[in-house]
Amino acid sequence: MIVGTLADTIGELTDIQRKAVEWDEGPLLVLAGPGSGKTRVLTCRVARLLDASPNERFRILALTFTNKAAHEMKSRIAALVPGSEERAEINTFHGFCARLLRQHGVHLGMKPNFEIYSRTADREALLKDALQRGSDGFEHDDTRFLPRIDALKARLISPEQADRYLMRHDTSREASERIALAYRLYEEELKRSNALDFNSLIILAHQILNYPKLAEHFRTIYRYWLIDEFQDTNGPQYDLLRRMAGDSFHQLFAVADDDQTIYEWNGANVRRIGSLVKDFECEVVQLTDNFRCPPGIVEAANRLVVYNVRRDLSKRSAEAAKSRPETETNESEIRCLVFPSDAGEARGIATEVAALDAEERGQTAILARNRALLETVQDELASLNVPTALLARRDDFASPQMRWLVAGLKQINRPLDRRNMVTLIETFRSFTGAALDFEDLEVRSEAGQVALMTVWFDSVRKASPPKPASKAVDTLARFASGDKRLPDTVKTVIECFESKGADGDFNDDVSAWRRIEREIRQAHGAVSLDQFLQEMALRSKQPVPEPGSVSLGTIHGAKGLEFDRVYLMGLAEEVLPSWHSVKNDNSSAALEEERRGCFVAITRAKRCLILSRAKTYRGWKKRPSRFLEEMGLLSDGPGRSLA
Ligand code: ATP
Ligand code: MG
Repeated sequence: MIVGTLADTIGELTDIQRKAVEWDEGPLLVLAGPGSGKTRVLTCRVARLLDASPNERFRILALTFTNKAAHEMKSRIAALVPGSEERAEINTFHGFCARLLRQHGVHLGMKPNFEIYSRTADREALLKDALQRGSDGFEHDDTRFLPRIDALKARLISPEQADRYLMRHDTSREASERIALAYRLYEEELKRSNALDFNSLIILAHQILNYPKLAEHFRTIYRYWLIDEFQDTNGPQYDLLRRMAGDSFHQLFAVADDDQTIYEWNGANVRRIGSLVKDFECEVVQLTDNFRCPPGIVEAANRLVVYNVRRDLSKRSAEAAKSRPETETNESEIRCLVFPSDAGEARGIATEVAALDAEERGQTAILARNRALLETVQDELASLNVPTALLARRDDFASPQMRWLVAGLKQINRPLDRRNMVTLIETFRSFTGAALDFEDLEVRSEAGQVALMTVWFDSVRKASPPKPASKAVDTLARFASGDKRLPDTVKTVIECFESKGADGDFNDDVSAWRRIEREIRQAHGAVSLDQFLQEMALRSKQPVPEPGSVSLGTIHGAKGLEFDRVYLMGLAEEVLPSWHSVKNDNSSAALEEERRGCFVAITRAKRCLILSRAKTYRGWKKRPSRFLEEMGLLSDGPGRSLA
C-alpha cells in the first residue's frame, strides 16, 4: 500500500507521468525532451514497485549513466521506501557487469579478485608488457594502438575478426594486421593478469550470458528492469540487454530523448531507440511538459534542434512549458555576451560569477565544449578565491600518499601483480625518497619464496623512512597479516599523513575516499577487499565540493544535471561546433552531434542561461557559432543581453 511521502510524490506527478509510473502492461519507452521528468518518473516507478511487493524476494534492476546518478537515485528511493535498499540494484552498466562477473566469471576462467583498470597509465603499461612479451616487431612504447583497440572492443569486434574488419574500413592490410596482433597480445596479457578494462566488463558479461541458464537466472532475480538515458546506450550494452532478456522478458522500462544523444563517438546511435521499440515491442509514452527550463530557453532549444535531420519525428516537442511553476526573477532568461578574446571571455565570466553570493554560486554551472576553455576560467576563478567543482570523472587519486595506499591494498589482494608493485615503489619513493629497486625485490622474492609485498615491507623498514610514512607502513603490514580491519587500517594511515600537515591534494583525496567508502557501504554493505577495490576503480576520485562551489564541466559531464544559472562558453565556429565537425561537410552526423551537445547544455538551466563567445580564440578570428543564429540569438554588442 502506498503511504506517506511516496503517495505524496506520486500525487505531484502529471497524469501522463503517473501513467508511466504505474504502467503494468509490458515493455514501455518514455520518449521525452529534457526536464520533462523522465528520471523522476523512473525513480518513482522503482519506489512504487518496491512498495507494492513488500513480501516478495525478486529484485529490481535500474541502470543509470554515472555512479553519481545511481547514488542519488538510491538515496531518493531509500527515503521513499525505507528498508527496501537490498531489493534494488541501482547501478551503472559497468558496475552491474562487474557484479555479474564477480559472481559468475568463473565460467570464463576468471578469478573473483580481478582488477579493473580504470587508469590509462595502467592500460598503457599492460600494452607495453604485452608487446614486449609477444613480438619483436613493436616499439616498446607503441601505446598508440590503445585507442584503436578500444574502438574495436566498443564494437564487439574480437581479435580474430579485427584485421578483416579494419580492412573493410579503409585501413591497409599491413596496418590492419599489426593492430589486430597488438589487440590479441593486449587481450592475452589482460587475461594473464586477471585484469579487465571497462570495455571488457561489458564484453565478458555479454559472453557469460551465452549460458541460457544464467540469463534465465537474471530474469528471475531481476523481475523489472529500468534504464535511464537509454539514448546513450552503445551497441555492446544493448546486445547485453537483449541477450539477458532472451525472447520472453517483457518488464523493461526505458526513458530516452533522441535529441540528447551525445555519445555517438562511444557507439551510441540515435537509431537505437527505434531498435528498442521494435525488438522489445515497447509501447511509447511521451511527456510534453518541461518542468526545468523557463519558456524562453525551451523555445531557443526547440528552434536549435529542428536543424537536425536525423531525429525521431514522432516525438512531440517539449515546447509546452506551461506546468512549470513560475519563478520570481529579475534576471533575463537568456543573455548573450561577446568578448574580444578567449582570455577576456574567461575573465568576464569569472568576474560575473565572483559577484554572486555563495548560495547562488552553488547553483551555477559553467559549461564548455572542451576542457581547455574550462581551465582558463578555473584559473581566473581561483585568482578571485572562488571555489570550483569539476563535473568530470577523475580516474585516480591526486596525492602520492593515497596512490601508495591503493597500490599497497592491491598488492596485498593480488600478491603476484608485478606492474602494481612498480607503482607501489614509485609512489612511495615520491613522498619519502626511499628508492627501492624492483628487480632486486623480485630476485629476493623468488630466492626466498616469499611474496613481493613481504620483501617490500622488509626493505622499506631497513631504509628507515620518516616517521609518518614508517607508521603507515607498519599499519599496512598489520592489515596484510590479518591483524587489522580495512576501515581501521585506512583511518590510521590517513591520520599518519594528516599529522604531518597534509596538502590540498591529500585533503581532496581523503574527502573523495570517504565519499567512495560511504557509497560502497550504502550500496553493498560490508564487502571483501576484492570487491572494495573493484568498486573503487569504477568510481570517480573527485573530492566532495566545498559549499558554494561553482560547477565547471564539459557538456558531457553535465548530462542529466540541472542548475539555476548556466553559462555556456565558446559559442564560436570551430569551437562549438568543433573544427572537426565542420571541416568537411556542413550537414555531417558529427555536426548534428555538436548541435545535440549545445541542446543538452542549454537545457540544464532552471532560471537563466548566459551564452558567451569571443571574437578570437588562441589569436585566431572566429565567427559566431551557427547555433546562436539557429536559436535566433545572434547579437554583436559586447555584453549585450537578450531578454
Ligand atoms: P533530462 O532529459 O535532462 O535528464 P529529465 O526528463 O530526466 O531531464 P528530470 O530531471 O526528471 O527530467 O526532471 C526535471 C526537473 O523537473 C526536476 O527538478 C524534477 O524534480 C522536476 N519535475 C519533474 N516532474 C515534475 C512534476 N510533475 N512537478 C514538479 N516538478 C517536476
Ligand atoms: Mg534525466
